[in-house]
Amino acid sequence: MDLKKHIRHVPDFPKAGILFYDITTLLRDPQGFRTTVDLLSTPYAGQDIDVVVGIESRGFILGGAVAQRIGAGFIPIRKPGKLPSRALKEIYDLEYGKDALEIHEDAVHPGQRVLIVDDVLATGGTAAAAAQLVKRLGGELHGLAFLIELLALNGKARLTGEQVYSVLQY
Ligand code: AMP
Repeated sequence: MDLKKHIRHVPDFPKAGILFYDITTLLRDPQGFRTTVDLLSTPYAGQDIDVVVGIESRGFILGGAVAQRIGAGFIPIRKPGKLPSRALKEIYDLEYGKDALEIHEDAVHPGQRVLIVDDVLATGGTAAAAAQLVKRLGGELHGLAFLIELLALNGKARLTGEQVYSVLQY
């Protein structure tokens, strides 16, 4: 199945100059969703991953499904102020300005094997911040898995030393 055929390209969203890779058109297709989860999960089956960490918000959809498939738990990383209990915050640089992500401070236990999942690896800032949060809690980061990697933005450069996997590359 050609997953790329099901991904909608939306020019100038959320702002001028950005080509947005819209996966809602892939996920609404039962076979598309299944194949996506199959391909994202396969490298991690039998790898003793304890928890999948998904990044808000499309990382919740994909990460939750991957966690179920590989028999791991699921932990959300969210935008500031959304998590109900005490949280650890990581601030990171955007092209213009700064952003932040949070994780519950008791979410990952020291030594747990963690897989981070998100839909798109672009500049890598979001993923690098998520990796920092996992490590600050003492998690052992096994790898990071993305449905889509935007090669021109070289996000991997911000994840040196980490095992990075992507299903589709553009
Ligand atoms: P970055 O921190 O630049 O790697 O951006 C990654 C985050 O922004 C991910 O959570 C993506 O969901 C989202 N993102 C960045 N660029 C795009 C894009 N062109 N299409 C869809 N989502 C994107």
